[in-house]
Amino acid sequence: MPILPQTSPEDALTELREGGYEPLEPYPGRVRDPWRVRCVTCGVEKRLMLNNLRSGQRNLRSGQRCSHASLSAERAVVLADENGLLPLEPYPGFKSRPWKLQCAVCGKNYSLRIRDLRQCTCVQKARAAEAELRAAGYEPLVPYPGTARKPWMSRCITCQQERRPSINTIRAGRRCLHQTPDQMATSSR
Ligand SMILES: [Zn+2]
Ligand SMILES: [Zn+2]
Ligand SMILES: [Zn+2]
Repeated sequence: MPILPQTSPEDALTELREGGYEPLEPYPGRVRDPWRVRCVTCGVEKRLMLNNLRSGQRNLRSGQRCSHASLSAERAVVLADENGLLPLEPYPGFKSRPWKLQCAVCGKNYSLRIRDLRQCTCVQKARAAEAELRAAGYEPLVPYPGTARKPWMSRCITCQQERRPSINTIRAGRRCLHQTPDQMATSSR
């Protein structure tokens, strides 16, 4: 019988978490041993073999990935909310057609199955933009205006003055000159 390559408990735990589960007991030691786990999304408890979770990924089938069959409608709404999405209709269940949802920030409509629930791309863009703003030495005072060319009300971390840089000007290399309004008036004269 061929010996399967074995996995360290740490790697096994990482794989399990990537598959959407939390362990209810320590890793049993081999990829074909049943492991008691809980689905992070719907909370269902099951025994699975790490090996099956893997083959599911390789064949692009659902494998032993959870279908979230036992997810309650209340919990589905909480999950949507955690992802910044507003339900446009009651949760239709895991099996039927995808769920119609709307991004609470930009209003984009989505049609998603519960296992594909994720934040709108606008949320990811805003997070990336905020990281750029902070890296340039500013603290945002309002949420991301939505596009790179719009001025963004911020505070310079160094001089504490309110500034309105845009992501485009930051990318062009412009930074706060740390002047007070008086100094700016003098230097522009
Ligand atoms: Zn589940
Ligand atoms: Zn959005
Ligand atoms: Zn400054």
